[in-house]
Amino acid sequence: MKIETKNFNPESDKMLNCSCEKCAGKICKITQDTLNKVQKIRDVYGHPLIVTSGYRCKNHPAEAGKSSEGSHQKGVAVDFKCLNGYDAARIIRAAFDADVGLCGFAYGPGFVHLDFDDEKGFRTWRY
Ligand SMILES: [Zn+2]
Repeated sequence: MKIETKNFNPESDKMLNCSCEKCAGKICKITQDTLNKVQKIRDVYGHPLIVTSGYRCKNHPAEAGKSSEGSHQKGVAVDFKCLNGYDAARIIRAAFDADVGLCGFAYGPGFVHLDFDDEKGFRTWRY
C-alpha cells in the first residue's frame, strides 16, 4: 500500500526516508498514521512544512547506540525545518491545535521535532 497524504509523499520527498549510507534515501517505514497526523498539522499551520528527518533505521548515525528503539526508528516522529523560536512555537502550536495526539516535541538548532510515540508518555526536551 502506498503511504502518502496530500502534501507528504516519501517517493517525492526523500527527507521522509532514512538517509543512512545503506538506505540512501530509498527506505521509508514512516507510518500512514504518522503522515495523516502531520498532514492535519500542516492543514492547521496553513503553510508548507519542510521535513528535515522522518524515518531512520537502526543504523542511522542518530539512532545507532540508542538503548531502545527511537521514535524515528518506529516511524512515529518527524522533524521540520524552522528558522527561529518564533517559527518553532507556531509549528508546535499548530501540532496542539490539530489535536492529533502529539506525544512530545523538542526544539533543536534549525528544526522542531514532533513525536507521536504514545508508549513513552508526553514529554519535551532540547537538543
Ligand atoms: Zn538506514
